[in-house]
Amino acid sequence: MSEIVDLDKKHLWHPFTQEQTAPDPIEIVRAKDASLLGADGKEYLDLISSWWTCAHGHAHPQIAEAVAHQAETLEHVIFAGFTHAPAANLGRKLAAKSPGELDRVFYSDNGSTAVEIALKLAIQFSYNRGDKKKRLLAFEGGYHGDTFGGMSVSRETGFFRPFEELMIAVDFLPYPETWAGDDAVETKEAAALAALDAYLEAHGSETAALIVEPLVQGASGMRMVRPEFLRQVAFRLKMAGVLLIFDEVMTGFGRTGDLFASLKAEVQPDLVCLSKAITGGFMPLAATMVTNEIYAEFLADDFGRAFFHGHSYTANPLGCAAALASMEIFEELETWERIQIIEKVHQERLNALMSHPRIHRQRLTGTIAAFDIRADDAGYTAAIAPRIKEHFFQRGLLIRPLGNVIYLLPPYCITPEQLNRAWDGIEAALKEVN
Ligand SMILES: *Cc1c(COP(=O)(O)O)cnc(C)c1O
Repeated sequence: MSEIVDLDKKHLWHPFTQEQTAPDPIEIVRAKDASLLGADGKEYLDLISSWWTCAHGHAHPQIAEAVAHQAETLEHVIFAGFTHAPAANLGRKLAAKSPGELDRVFYSDNGSTAVEIALKLAIQFSYNRGDKKKRLLAFEGGYHGDTFGGMSVSRETGFFRPFEELMIAVDFLPYPETWAGDDAVETKEAAALAALDAYLEAHGSETAALIVEPLVQGASGMRMVRPEFLRQVAFRLKMAGVLLIFDEVMTGFGRTGDLFASLKAEVQPDLVCLSKAITGGFMPLAATMVTNEIYAEFLADDFGRAFFHGHSYTANPLGCAAALASMEIFEELETWERIQIIEKVHQERLNALMSHPRIHRQRLTGTIAAFDIRADDAGYTAAIAPRIKEHFFQRGLLIRPLGNVIYLLPPYCITPEQLNRAWDGIEAALKEVN
């Protein structure tokens, strides 16, 4: 065991990990493009973009340079009463690239805080208007983060049992997940929309907002819905005067094949949460974007209507500089060509697996491909998950199944050769691992 792993095991505590049974962590010493280099000299192909953060590739020189330059110029400054060019320029860019009227940015530093802020803004928006709507709506299976607000709107994932009694009240709707060749999709969508109609009829006037991971629920297993469904939901909420929050923490920045899932689905949400790939995977940064209509409700002569919320590292200049550099890379045509090639390779390889006896529910949105392994214990704790993960790691493939769901969500620099190597590894695993 290396000295670093030894120290780690003495002092550190890892996220989402049962420390007693987990294998020793793998020490990584360098990263470049789609590859991670282990201390033992072994290379791993990063097929999950290091928890969905990495966008263009690891150690991308343009982003590295922007961060280094910013670190030597202005590393951080309090953001109450002060501002700086990286924050302002990023705000302009995000406003220009996001759909419709999302012109106002509130920065924080991770996905959970971006969600917490969106929920609080939605509640206070209503409070400031004097209608004091308190109900929140979410979808079964949605995952929105690990803070109390985030956990509360993620309750139906079942990840947070010890805290359930302390959560804020949230109502949940059925989620009409779908896949290639699903002939029940319209029935499922109609049932979900009927449930929404009934809910809005009974509680619409007390409901502040609905939060949804647009097009793809990430953590609960890359569960996808059709854009048509989101458009129907958005239309009903607008009629009922309920705010629509898009949690694009995972789907943002190219994952679905467009810069944002809202653009791909052609839906105009009222609030959007961004983080993960916002800096290309370099720095912790998040943004909650809202319309000027929402912002205006917080303006007054007295302090009472203001949003009393902030974090020490709000609008950190290093994060903003990284995000700006990443946005420049999104302005290159080549980036979008790479994203299209990833989708094409995914589609070819999924097609070849369409009638594979061990798997079903093949699905694809942009750069995200997924399917379920048939298992009696389907779900996040499926027994096959650790075995198949170990199989992938042995072959130098960083693929982390979500229970019995296998998915690929690579950085955009990945080559077709590398991506095909990952799919070959998946096919081998389906033969060899039980
Ligand atoms: C990861 C994630 C979050 C939480 O982000 P953190 O940065 O891990 O706190 C929230 N929403 C979605 C959709 C996510 O995928």
